[in-house]
Parts: sequence; C-alpha cells; structure tokens
Amino acid sequence: MVASGCDSDLDAGDAGTVWKRSRRRRERQERLDAGFPDDWRSLCEQRFRWYRTLDAEQLTRFERRVLEMVLDVSWEPARDFEITDEMRVTIASLAQLVVLELPEGALGRVHAVIVHPTTIVMEGEHSQVDGVVSDEPTEILGEAVDGGPILLAWDEVVDDVRHPRRGRNVVIHEFAHVVDMLDGVVDGTPPITDPDAAQRWIRVCTEIFEQVVEGRAGHVLDPYAGVNPGEFFAVATEAFFCDPLGLHREHPDLFAEFLAVYGLDPRAWVVR
Ligand SMILES: [Zn+2]
Repeated sequence: MVASGCDSDLDAGDAGTVWKRSRRRRERQERLDAGFPDDWRSLCEQRFRWYRTLDAEQLTRFERRVLEMVLDVSWEPARDFEITDEMRVTIASLAQLVVLELPEGALGRVHAVIVHPTTIVMEGEHSQVDGVVSDEPTEILGEAVDGGPILLAWDEVVDDVRHPRRGRNVVIHEFAHVVDMLDGVVDGTPPITDPDAAQRWIRVCTEIFEQVVEGRAGHVLDPYAGVNPGEFFAVATEAFFCDPLGLHREHPDLFAEFLAVYGLDPRAWVVR
C-alpha cells in the first residue's frame, strides 16, 4: 500500500526486483561483516605457500578483496558443470595475489569468470592470439577479453596449483592480461606513471622479448612469450610469481622491472 502523496513509478513487477536486489545487498553485507570464512583460510593454507608469508596488513587486504571478488563477480559455469566455493576461492586468491600491491579496483573491470571443467574448444569465428580471425577449432586453457569475462579451464587451474615449480599458472596469466589492459591497450606495458621508469621498462622488455623470439632467452620464459608483447607480459608474470629464482637468475633486469610493477618479491616465498 502506498501512502497518500507518495509518488512512485514502481509497478508490482518492479517492486519484486527491488526487494530481491535489496535482499541480495543485505546478504552481501552480512557475508562481508562475517569476514573471511575459516574453511577458506584452511584452503589457502593448503594450496598456497605464499599465504602464510603475508604480513598482517597484506593479509587483511587480501582476504577482504578475495571475499569481495567471490561475492561481486558473476561466476558462471560452463554447461553441465557446477562451480563450488573451492573454485571461486582458488581463482580469486590467485587473481588478488597478482594485484595485491596495486591500487584498489585493479580488477574492477572483471565482471564475470566463466569456469569450464577442462580445455575449452573455441568453435565458429573467433580471433586468435595473433589477432587473425579464424573458424578453425582452437583449444585454449584460458582467455581474458578487455571488459569481458575471464575464461578458465578448472583442471588446468588445479594442475598449476599442485605443481607451482613448473613456473606456469593459467589464472596468473589471464589476470596479468587484465593488469596489462588497465591503461586501455594490450601492449605488454601496465600503467607506469614515472616517464623514466616507463622508458626503462620498454628497453628491458623489448630486449628480452627479442631474445625469446630468437630462441636465446634461456629456459625460464616459455617460448609462447614470443607471440607478441601482451603474451610476453603474461608469461613473464607467471614466471615472476611461480619461478622467481629462475627468472631472477636468467633475467635479473626483467625481474627488477616486475618487482617494481607488482610491489612484491616472490623469492621470499620459495623454500630454497
Ligand atoms: Zn595470454
């Protein structure tokens, strides 16, 4: 019943939507107030060697951001698949690790994560990594599109988490693309405000990118880094987080650039 004098355009259907929305808002706030669940904490402790090394301030920020991402992103399963909290927390944790020392909202343009059980086969017309449009079926483990959803193959996510020493991680790779896209272009350069630092970044990355293309960059960077500067940045980010000692040994200059951009030193996480 509407009080007399109250001017509202709501019809009965709208009212249902408004109540649903306000219930969702209330539930979201309750989950935020309840904090990071204990079983999520146990999951992080089991899965990620870096989790226990975060200091108190980093841990608080990390857990809040993971919780917000789990609540706010639309988690969409592929057909005949079901997404669990284990998947949401694992993926959100790796994504938030990448941007832990970046300003709030670095992943704000990611509205949806689509999780497939295994390798995704792109059918129909789609643009490939080199920009060429093809209708050949293409197998992918993940994909990041600017302003669009992140696609991930869950079996690959788990495999990468179980074998961190292999130096690759599809979640870190795809969210590195998101960081690269923060300035609006996929060019292998995240936002760097200091002009001298930006110049140095371009010089160091260009030199090592050329080494990868020519097959003389060592063993730590996967040859896929030679596809284009965007893939170089994503592959080097994987190496930085997953094989920091190897990347530092083979490319100390590149390691220093990534250290400056991400503000974290993953060498501290490695049991030597
Ligand atoms: Zn990529």
